[in-house]
Amino acid sequence: VLRLEAVRKTFGDGQVVLRDVGLSVPEHSVTALIGASGSGKSTLLRCVNLLEPIDDGAVFLDGAEITDPRVDEDAVRRRIGVVFQAYNLFPHLTVLENVTLAPRRVHGVPRAEAEERALELLDRLGLAAKAGAYPDRLSGGQQQRVAIVRALATGPRLLLLDEITAALDPELVGEVLAVVRDLKERGMTMLLATHEMGFAREVADQVCFLDGGVVLEQGPPERVFGAPTEERTRRFLSRVV
Ligand code: ATP
Ligand code: MG
Repeated sequence: VLRLEAVRKTFGDGQVVLRDVGLSVPEHSVTALIGASGSGKSTLLRCVNLLEPIDDGAVFLDGAEITDPRVDEDAVRRRIGVVFQAYNLFPHLTVLENVTLAPRRVHGVPRAEAEERALELLDRLGLAAKAGAYPDRLSGGQQQRVAIVRALATGPRLLLLDEITAALDPELVGEVLAVVRDLKERGMTMLLATHEMGFAREVADQVCFLDGGVVLEQGPPERVFGAPTEERTRRFLSRVV
C-alpha cells in the first residue's frame, strides 16, 4: 500500500532529519516505528501525509507517487487517516459531528449516510452512547477512540498513528491499544510510531528502528526485539524495555 524510497528530509537550519529512508508497508499489515525521541518518527509520518515536503526521494501510495508536485494533496490525504498524540477533537462539536464532519464536508456524503456509518463505527468501539456528547465530557481514552473513529470515517487505505497513547493515563492505554488490535484483525493497513515496545512486539508485522533519521534495522518483531543485529538497537532496547 505504502512505499518510501530514499526519502530525505531536512529542516530549515540544514538539520537532516530523515536520510535515505526506505520502507514498505504491505496491505493489511502493521508497521511499527520505534526509536528514541527525536529520531524522526513523527517527521516520517508527516511526510507520508504530505504535511511536510520532502527534499529527495519519493513516497508511493498504491503504486502512485504522492510526492510528485503535480499530485492533488487533498485527494491523497483523503485516502490516509491520521491520529495524533493529542486527540484534537473539535471541542464545540459533538462526538457524532466530529466524526461526520470530514465525510460530509470533504467527501460530500449525505448527512444521514454519514451518521449511519459513524454510529456503526462508534458502536464497534463501544462509544455509541457518547454520540451526542461533547469531547470535554469524555475520558482521554474515549476521546482518543473517537479520534480513531473519525480517522476511519472516510474509509482510508492507510492509517497513520503517532504515539496515540502517549498522552493517556496508564489505565486508559489498554482500551486504545485494544482498538488498534481490533483494526489489525479487520485487515487495516497501519503505520504507527510508538514508545510501547510490548505493544509493537505484539501487534506489528514489521518493526522499523529509526536512529538519527536512518532506518538502522527492520524486520519482524521477533527478530528485531529478540535478536537485534545492530549494537545501537540493542542499546536502545535495553534502555526502554
Ligand atoms: P518523539 O519520540 O519525541 O516523538 P520523533 O522520533 O517523533 O520524537 P521528530 O518529531 O520526527 O522525532 O523529530 C525529529 C527531529 O526533527 C528532531 O530533532 C526535531 O527537533 C526536528 N524537527 C521536527 N519538526 C521540526 C520543525 N518543524 N522544524 C525544525 N525541526 C524539526
Ligand atoms: Mg514524535
